[in-house]
Amino acid sequence: MATPCSVEELKPPAEGQLARLEGGKLVVPDNPVVVYIEGDGIGPEVVRSAIQVINAAVEKAYGGARRIVWWEAVAGEKAQRECGELLPKATLEAIKIARLALKGPLTTPVGSGFRSINVTIRQALDLYANIRPVRFYGQPAPHKYADKVNFVIFRENTEDVYAGIEWPHDSAEAERLRQFLKQELGVTIREDAGIGVKPISKFATQRLMRRALEWALRNGNKRITLMHKGNIMKYTEGAFMKWGYEVALNEFREHVVTEQELWEKYNGEIPEGKILVNDRIADNMLQQIITRPWDYEIIVAPNLNGDYISDAANALVGGIGMAAGMNMGDGIAVAEPVHGSAPKYAGKNVINPTAEILSATLLIGEFMGWREVTRLVEDAIRRAIADKKVTYDLARHMPGVEPLKTTEYTEALIQYIREA
Ligand code: NAD
Repeated sequence: MATPCSVEELKPPAEGQLARLEGGKLVVPDNPVVVYIEGDGIGPEVVRSAIQVINAAVEKAYGGARRIVWWEAVAGEKAQRECGELLPKATLEAIKIARLALKGPLTTPVGSGFRSINVTIRQALDLYANIRPVRFYGQPAPHKYADKVNFVIFRENTEDVYAGIEWPHDSAEAERLRQFLKQELGVTIREDAGIGVKPISKFATQRLMRRALEWALRNGNKRITLMHKGNIMKYTEGAFMKWGYEVALNEFREHVVTEQELWEKYNGEIPEGKILVNDRIADNMLQQIITRPWDYEIIVAPNLNGDYISDAANALVGGIGMAAGMNMGDGIAVAEPVHGSAPKYAGKNVINPTAEILSATLLIGEFMGWREVTRLVEDAIRRAIADKKVTYDLARHMPGVEPLKTTEYTEALIQYIREA
């Protein structure tokens, strides 16, 4: 049953238990309550598919000893219909209580009306790290080295020019700022210039870097690269790099080597059990992921760079239908695919649910720690692609292959999981 519209009536399902934080660590029961939001457009189709696939994988992995108790919350058009508002407080509260949520895409009208609900959710819950793995599962891809692509992008989610601190060129605020900058700091800005502010803080940079290092330690990654444009923007992007290194060297010293140490002490080879922490200038980095993708594993970037590089990286392995994501805070996460609500495909049973399914594995496998689920689901996706059982978006690049419907593809994945 969906959550009610008001916080007062909110009650998690009795058959599940809530995940909780103990000493800063997430403790997940065997029957955790996980919130799901169907979303708009193709959202309900991809979320339904993801829930079915995850349930099958949990059943296969733990044979009934573990089970997810799904709890629906509404947002977007469904919330507007049922509660008369796009993002009821009860939905945010349900995510806060459960700490775990899977979300479908939500429609944001361009140039009018309300702010993006997605952005509101991220800000309201302080989901400061946007994590986007970019992996190759055998899908048709445009790049010669697609099979070498295996990145996880950690994009800062709360600051940078995305913080929304900006004024139109002809506003009173821009005029005041221009005056202030001229009189107090001796800086002249043209009168017809809009003005935006780019905040990048030590606090936000360091908590992001910490999560990236923890991820690398958990997953056995060998490389973390700080992506920045610090040669030009020294006190924002340059500081991002400096603060990132600080965390690595002050808090994770025994686990990391720098590029300099790598050449001075280890002849250019990353020693067993160590993580190389290095940095690259953003423009070079966008080139390097194409020419030398094998040199990169975890990429830590401020908001804008992270946005650019995740789309560029996903293009290497072909297609938005496969691109997964998770927004993570302290002891709370909302997984959602990179793609939007693709309204023109809504209800047609044709779109690719893989991005939503892989987003769900980030939540269940990585964030909750039920790793067997991730392995089963990823193997099933690899097998489906190898057997040419794919939806239209991949089939159209595979000559002679008839596309499966969303539901048929979902069934195929479940079958592979049961056979595993
Ligand atoms: P979109 O990602 O919804 O769709 C663009 C195109 O990509 C589609 O027409 C389709 O060809 C393809 N596509 C997307 N998802 C696919 C899938 N799962 N399988 C196969 N093909 C797929 O982008 P858009 O059209 O720019 O945005 C539509 C709406 O979604 C907008 O209102 C936008 O604001 C919103 N949006 C929401 C989120 C989110 O909820 N996090 C993210 C991006 C966009």
